[in-house]
Amino acid sequence: MLKISAINCYYGYIHALKDVSLEVPEGKIVTLLGANGAGKTSTLKAISGILPIKSGKIEFMGKDLTKLTVEKIVAEGIVQSPEGRQIFPELTVEENLKIGSYTRKDKKNIPETFERVYNYFPILKERKKQIAGTLSGGEQQMLAIGRALMAKPKLLLLDEPSLGLAPLIVKNIFGIIKQINEEGTTILLVEQNAVQALNIAHYGYILETGKIVHQGKAEDLKNDDKVKKAYLGGQ
Ligand code: ATP
Repeated sequence: MLKISAINCYYGYIHALKDVSLEVPEGKIVTLLGANGAGKTSTLKAISGILPIKSGKIEFMGKDLTKLTVEKIVAEGIVQSPEGRQIFPELTVEENLKIGSYTRKDKKNIPETFERVYNYFPILKERKKQIAGTLSGGEQQMLAIGRALMAKPKLLLLDEPSLGLAPLIVKNIFGIIKQINEEGTTILLVEQNAVQALNIAHYGYILETGKIVHQGKAEDLKNDDKVKKAYLGGQ
């Protein structure tokens, strides 16, 4: 579905992505793992069209994304739930979700998606009139994912959904991410939390200083000694 072939990206003289290649097959969860500053967010920015690509190619359902604007890429069905949530803190939960649906052409189906999001995250339904800035960290993360789902993405890009959250909440959110995938949404999950990510993903890539250094089925990566030592706390 998504195919990235040997992309290179720069911030000025900083070579942030070095010949990065990866694939996300339709219907799967693929996780992109790596330490802080490895280039995970930059990869997502390259896919979304925010970070220019110096060389290489990104294709989505057979279409070349490299020449498209950010808006056109969203219209193709690629939607990101950004790191640090970036919800609108002064707006209500419901208003935030509505913003996620602005780009949709099938307006009459929007109420159905509201129901779908409220089904995944019942707490958002309970709090739909609440000002988003007053939600807990976990609820804000749920809102960010819910807002991305309101656009009815074909491919959902998740940037560190576990960041700053307590383990129980992470477990809950990852369970829902798995469910979202099982109900038909393809997901590229960027994470530092390798254990949780590999538990729900089908396939994983490991990025180090802008380069893919490892890849494999999630099961195999979990059992790989080198991966265990470097990313899974040696367990
Ligand atoms: P994080 O966990 O912080 O999100 P990451 O793996 O997503 O880390 P990136 O944010 O993609 O990493 O950063 C990759 C490299 O590019 C790092 O060396 C970072 O310092 C550099 N970088 C990122 N954004 C910029 C920017 N706007 N200007 C200059 N350098 C940047």
